[in-house]
Order: sequence, then C-alpha cells, then structure tokens
Amino acid sequence: MAGIRKVDYVMSQKGTVQVFLDGYCYNKNVVRQTCIHWKCVDSTCKGRCTTVGDFIRNVSDHTHPPYMVINLVDDDARFPIPLWNHHQTAGPRTNNNLEGFHHRLNRILPHCHPNIYRFVEVIKEIVCADRTKIAQLDFVPPHPAGSEFTERLKIA
Ligand SMILES: [Zn+2]
Repeated sequence: MAGIRKVDYVMSQKGTVQVFLDGYCYNKNVVRQTCIHWKCVDSTCKGRCTTVGDFIRNVSDHTHPPYMVINLVDDDARFPIPLWNHHQTAGPRTNNNLEGFHHRLNRILPHCHPNIYRFVEVIKEIVCADRTKIAQLDFVPPHPAGSEFTERLKIA
C-alpha cells in the first residue's frame, strides 16, 4: 500500500489552481462532497487523480511521458539538453562583468547625458586602462641571476 502523499499545487498561466504530481499536471474537473477529481492537462490523455483535502486518494495512468521528459529530456524535447545544460560552458555565465563596467562608467561620468567631448575622453581613458591591463598580463618579470629559474635554464 502506498503511503499518504500530500498534493503539490501550482498556478496555471490563466490563474487556475492545478495539481502537479509525478511530473504530470492536472486541471480541476469535478468536486464531489470531500473529493476533488482532477484530469490531465493533455486533453487527449485519460490520466486522472482524486484528492481528499490536501492528500492524493488515487491516480490513473497516462498515455504520454511526464512533463519533464517531454520538455527537457527527450531527443525531440521542446528545450533540448544543450540549451539548458551549462556544465561545459566556457566563460562567464552571468553579465556581472558588464554590470561592473556600466557601474564604473556611470561613476566616472558626471551625469546621464555628458558632453560628447567628455564622453570621448572617458572612453579613451578606459581603452588606455584596458591596454595597460593586457600588457600587464603578458609581462613576465625578469628572474634575478642565481635564482632557481635561471639555474634551470642553464641546465637545459
Ligand atoms: Zn496525461
């Protein structure tokens, strides 16, 4: 015998209450005494469930896979795996770097609509600062004579 299961309610886009159970979504069908009968949102499906209060009373089988499988997992899913899987994403996943740039730009500029000459001047300063950062990344400091690195070069 299955244990007592509590109902998970969700709100539809139309604002009606739905039951979400085992990956299937149900619309309210009929209310009889203390029971509420729900039917699958897929009108071609015979899937039904019945609730008493906030608990599941019985559930029938569906003629289709659950919502998650249809939309996210299947080969012909609505949202294919490469669209939502970010485990192999290279580079930033957020736009924090852009937000940081805009914050710095707003801090430097005196007001929302600056003089075009002041704006060009600020952009030149930003370009100069970025070139300096790039040059610093490429810079390899010289190793002092007698250091471990210099000794390794002599051996090789
Ligand atoms: Zn169904």
